[in-house]
Amino acid sequence: MRWGLIGASTIAREWVAPAIVANDGELVGVYSSYPARGRAYAEQVGIERAVETLSELFDLGLDAVYISTTNELHREQLEEAVARGLHVFCEKPLATSLADADCMIRAAQRADVVMATNHHLRHAGSHRRMRDEVAAGTLGKLITARVFHAVYLPEHLQGWRLNNPGAGAGVVLDITVHNADTLAFLLGEYPTHVMAQTQNAGMGQGVEDGCMGIWRFASGVQAYTHEAFTMPHAHTGLELHGSLASLYADNVMTQQPVGTVSRHVLGERSVLTCESNNLYERGVAAFVAAIRGGPAVECDGIAGYRSMAVAVATLESARTGCEVAVDYGPYRPD
Ligand code: NDP
Repeated sequence: MRWGLIGASTIAREWVAPAIVANDGELVGVYSSYPARGRAYAEQVGIERAVETLSELFDLGLDAVYISTTNELHREQLEEAVARGLHVFCEKPLATSLADADCMIRAAQRADVVMATNHHLRHAGSHRRMRDEVAAGTLGKLITARVFHAVYLPEHLQGWRLNNPGAGAGVVLDITVHNADTLAFLLGEYPTHVMAQTQNAGMGQGVEDGCMGIWRFASGVQAYTHEAFTMPHAHTGLELHGSLASLYADNVMTQQPVGTVSRHVLGERSVLTCESNNLYERGVAAFVAAIRGGPAVECDGIAGYRSMAVAVATLESARTGCEVAVDYGPYRPD
């Protein structure tokens, strides 16, 4: 497949471009709004051409594009790409408003192309093993989930995420969306209501850099989630607690295929075997398979919309101090 990159971003360089190559994709061109930087980036990443406009990129004869610019640009760039019949692998959050995310989904549907959202965590061996345990009923009746996703934003990423609300800055649009997608993947349901408090611990410039949320699900499950940019020493993790057993997953809210999952039953601990695969390669593989007529991508535009809806409700709850019913708009989960 011939791929174009829209955005000379860190995530493309570190993870997604190599994942495309690992899936036998050809990196044909990269669009950057800074021509000199785009050329240097193309050379560094191994991309054939750097171009200065989207139409130049589309003229390279592509099958798909990967959009990883800052979030306020995703909508227009996706609309232009799908209008050219290109399949789109798009970064999260899909956009900076649910209205824009809705337009993106509709544009991809109208163009009859595949649209995927890059929520990488559902492709981790650890999360897939936990999902299998839940589906097999080994935890009994699920009662509670706890998500620990407080990290330290690396210095080289301490830019627009901290100081540009127009680009979707703040930890909620950046990380809460991942927690929403991961819990939906594990539990098979999205929260109906959220309550949240945000924090500014000195890193965010006019935006939140920490958040704690409590989510209610229709099944009765209650979840606690903690997202932050400010915590250099904290472990990430995820716990699921059921009537028959608990699962403790340590160091699993990350880009690396690492971490451990253990089952606890009345003080007895057993470590579960998990596949250790590259998360991004698996996400790209699912996208490519769907384009080639395989199963539809599970993490599609609608999944991206729903994870954003949880983030939007989280911000609303933090602003008002009230519990907020998540508004999934036209994409209400069953
Ligand atoms: P970056 O800040 O690295 O890149 C975003 C844009 O900023 C680029 O498109 C580029 O513009 C510009 N830019 C990048 N580096 C420089 C620089 N040194 N000087 C000037 N401009 C620069 O963002 P991320 O890679 O962190 O995030 C991009 C998108 O990916 C976001 O939507 C984010 O939410 C998402 N993301 C997803 C992850 C996941 O695991 N799913 C993980 C990390 C990010 P131009 O293209 O015009 O050159």
